[in-house]
Amino acid sequence: MEKKRVYTFGNGEAEGKADMRNLLGGKGANLAEMNLIGVPVPPGFTITTEVCNEYYEIGKEAVVKILKEDVEKALHGVEVLMRSKFGDVENPLLVSVRSGARASMPGMMDTILNLGLNDEVVEGLSRKTANPRFAWDSYRRFVQMYGDVVLGMKPTNKEDIDPFEAIIESVKEGKGVKLDNELDVEDLKELVKRFKLAVKEQTGQDFPVSAYEQLWGAICAVFNSWMNERAILYRKMEGIPAEWGTAVSVQAMVFGNMGNNSATGVCFSRDAGSGEDLFNGEYLINAQGEDVVAGIRTPQQITKIGSQRWAERAGISEEVRSSKYPSMEEAMPEIYNELDKLQTKLENHYHDMQDMEFTVQEGKLWFLQTRNGKRTGAAMVKIAMDLLHQGMIDEKTALLRCEPNKLDELLHPVFDKAALKTAKTLTRGLPASPGAATGQIVFFADDAALWAADSKKVILVRIETSPEDLAGMAVAEGILTARGGMTSHAAVVARGMGKCCISGAGAMNVDYKARTVEIDGVVLNEGDFISLNGTTGEVYQGKVNTKAAEVSGDFAQLMDLCDKYSRLKVRTNADTPHDAMVARQFGAVGIGLCRTEHMFFESQKIVAMREMILAPDVEGRKKALGKLLPYQKDDFKGIFRAMDGCPVNIRLLDPPLHEFVPHDEKGQQEMADAMGVTVSYIRQRVESLCEHNPMLGHRGCRLGNTYPEITEMQTRAIIGAALELKKEGLDPHPEIMVPLTGILYEFEAQEKIIRDTAAQLFEEFGTEIPFKVGTMIEIPRAALTADRIASRAEYFSFGTNDLTQMTFGYSRDDIASFLPVYLEKKILKVDPFQVLDQKGVGQLIEMAVQKGRSVRPELKCGICGEHGGEPSSVKFCHKVGLNYVSCSPFRVPIARLAAAQAAVEEK
Ligand code: ADP
Ligand code: MG
Ligand code: MG
Repeated sequence: MEKKRVYTFGNGEAEGKADMRNLLGGKGANLAEMNLIGVPVPPGFTITTEVCNEYYEIGKEAVVKILKEDVEKALHGVEVLMRSKFGDVENPLLVSVRSGARASMPGMMDTILNLGLNDEVVEGLSRKTANPRFAWDSYRRFVQMYGDVVLGMKPTNKEDIDPFEAIIESVKEGKGVKLDNELDVEDLKELVKRFKLAVKEQTGQDFPVSAYEQLWGAICAVFNSWMNERAILYRKMEGIPAEWGTAVSVQAMVFGNMGNNSATGVCFSRDAGSGEDLFNGEYLINAQGEDVVAGIRTPQQITKIGSQRWAERAGISEEVRSSKYPSMEEAMPEIYNELDKLQTKLENHYHDMQDMEFTVQEGKLWFLQTRNGKRTGAAMVKIAMDLLHQGMIDEKTALLRCEPNKLDELLHPVFDKAALKTAKTLTRGLPASPGAATGQIVFFADDAALWAADSKKVILVRIETSPEDLAGMAVAEGILTARGGMTSHAAVVARGMGKCCISGAGAMNVDYKARTVEIDGVVLNEGDFISLNGTTGEVYQGKVNTKAAEVSGDFAQLMDLCDKYSRLKVRTNADTPHDAMVARQFGAVGIGLCRTEHMFFESQKIVAMREMILAPDVEGRKKALGKLLPYQKDDFKGIFRAMDGCPVNIRLLDPPLHEFVPHDEKGQQEMADAMGVTVSYIRQRVESLCEHNPMLGHRGCRLGNTYPEITEMQTRAIIGAALELKKEGLDPHPEIMVPLTGILYEFEAQEKIIRDTAAQLFEEFGTEIPFKVGTMIEIPRAALTADRIASRAEYFSFGTNDLTQMTFGYSRDDIASFLPVYLEKKILKVDPFQVLDQKGVGQLIEMAVQKGRSVRPELKCGICGEHGGEPSSVKFCHKVGLNYVSCSPFRVPIARLAAAQAAVEEK
């Protein structure tokens, strides 16, 4: 059987329907569906997306040949319904030629209106409607659109003005008018004449007169627009495959430009910004197509309440509003009522918020498009919960309606919209970590700590950050760096902290000595206010007020719903009581990774820590460890308190040692004084600690096995803290994790120290607490021998950052030199450090879980890499039967939603 390429719709009938969007595109499928459910839609037909692919295979001429018969037949059907004829002079049918892909790609491709006009037909139309202004307005629009889209008149250089716009401007100027609708018939005729001259001049061709020639030109131009630069870019951003293609819908024109009883507009069944269940939209009287969006004239509100709210914001009195800017509800009450009824009907039919386009022709309402509307994260959650409560969707659908990553928008503070309007943008950097922040500039981490202790809100401004800045970053409202990309230290750490950060703001000149930063000639001093939008990368001068995130209400209900369906638990990665508290508020049920090395950065501790690292022998180390013990115990108590009743998985020390020791002379002198040794000794030690590849060096349990006294001290701190809290009546659940195990014996030796030390403490305290000893699986060998390791280890936590690094053999620190090229050339589809590589690394995880549980069926397994908060990776973890994922506090809700979706999507 011959493949069906053309699907007709009209007069309450259609060959397509809503679920055929792959073939008909979203627009074509919904035009068909609207016909079927009794919404008034001008008749027409849709050429399938498959033809788009054929077009790119066999070319224009061949495609026109195979389509010709079907298109002519379908168009004849439209002629019958519209009682007019395409290309006819006395009774012409005009059509629009519209693009529409599977996924909505707003404004990316082209549409041509009023097709079928020429110098004779325009006169016929003028006579038929007795409305020459309308006929000529349509004609000049057509010549302009066709010229731009089909004949390539649109300038390629973005600085160049559209040649047609230039002509319109000059005619308006000559007449001394501002608005398009102030031009009369003679002006419009003049425009058409000059437009066609411009076409001839620029392309060397006459403007086509034949309606069919125009039609084929337009259809092929829509196919061409699938491959235009912005469409390609948009697809890349949204991950839409090029093979999908665009459909082309050809549809009888209805006219919003026939006078004051005609109009065109765009409306939403709910508020796309806030999610409020309130019909809203904008319209323009005596206008056509994109006029509303294009901002040629200021559109009016559709509803009275929308109009009143608009007037209030603009400071316009009700009296002036109702007389000068009436809503459609007031100006065209009957049509408004019909529109309102139909928008409700469409929402009820699709069970989701609709974004609709309509036209009113001489008092008659027509729908031209409907689709599920795009919305903000906040609206996404509110609409899903409202639809659930209104009985329009069930719980599972409500969960699937929310996109996990979009929750991020809700969790961070946001700028007050009104405050933003008056803010002055200084520059733009990379949107490294979302949220809004406002505060006083400081340039150094220790100043940040001092100022913050003084209850000041600060923004840490640096050329770049390093681990030593951690404490300062932790207390800052936001971080701004001149250098570094999306994976720079500042960016990664800030995202982990859920803190607003802009990196790579290259226009910024930081002068640490003068304590100033200069941006495009503006010089700011320490203490001056600055504001950051980490979601967009914009940097503002001065204070811009922010609002805290809203985590109750609909958001909380959604989260409860997640827990009802998910099997996978969500823990958090947290190194401080504060982070632990934040994560608990977001619903974390434990700590999946507490990194002890991050606890040493504060001033007193860092000295003792450095002493421990630089010590010449065991004695020296033990002395330094003795100083660290009370600090560590205190830190653990804080964390256990914050996570009372929940498991806390603490990783034993796993530091890149060289990062902790001072590399500058002043710091080295300080350490020499503190330890009573010479500076040259310190310098030598620092140099000897230098490793060529520290990622594969003296770290993890290699450290604990060469310096067992460190493991002993840390166990004392952990178990000691827990025992002391038990006395206070609390309920701590420590889990002690050995990092970087590759060989069973490495683990056994560490486990022995831990258990012996715990036993000693239990005796000292005369009481016991339950605790677990487990290991991180981050070395491929550990995954390969997981059954052996599970014979001793009580749980596995997959450290997928290192596991990815070692499975691929990519150094996380050096990947920047080739990763972008790999992504560009599609050697890698995604960055495996962000999205878990399920085929390789995932296989190791799946295998290790199976092997481990073969010897220890109750083996608890979790994941604690950055992947623990990435939705597709979370779903994978569900699939292979992990017990939990662990992620940074601000990603906890995202992981909870992804975990619930994984359960719901299962069969
Ligand atoms: P986009 O995908 O860019 O929104 P559309 O194909 O929806 O492009 O066309 C843009 C606008 O043109 C529509 O919103 C509508 O106002 C107008 N339009 C399209 N087809 C017709 C038609 N047959 N009659 C009247 N107006 C039309
Ligand atoms: Mg549209
Ligand atoms: Mg690791």
